[in-house]
Amino acid sequence: MTEMRRVTAIRNGTVIDHIPSGYALQVIKMLRMDVKRSTPVSLVMNVPSDKIGRKDVLKIEDRELNQEELDRLALIAPEASIAIIRNHVVSGKMKVELSGELYNIASCSFSNCITKADREPLPQRMKIVNENPLEIRCYYCGKRQTLEELIENII
Ligand SMILES: [Zn+2]
Repeated sequence: MTEMRRVTAIRNGTVIDHIPSGYALQVIKMLRMDVKRSTPVSLVMNVPSDKIGRKDVLKIEDRELNQEELDRLALIAPEASIAIIRNHVVSGKMKVELSGELYNIASCSFSNCITKADREPLPQRMKIVNENPLEIRCYYCGKRQTLEELIENII
């Protein structure tokens, strides 16, 4: 598990706010912080929120996430607001954007998909067919992917 410390403020790093309640661990997984365990992460869950009812908040120390990393979160935390902290001060704010395609974020769940063939590695591409309700399909084989499958198959 990622090291978690409940703290109120960080000196340098990234704060991800307005994560839907209960999804903070999936966010950690999507950012691959469950495998790269060197980054201290503080987790606050079930905080009351005017915007989304209840929310989770993550504070990631000594790392500034870039837009590409943040866009990975669009699937599970489209309302997330991000603050970059430098020397205890907010130095930048960012939003998560759900674009028309997920590029190299998760692999296809269909075992006979062409992306499973080893000879010529293809990038993993998922088309966002519809945002609400969410419908995501593999660019190659067209198989629909559930959110659970996508989280499970993060690369
Ligand atoms: Zn596929």
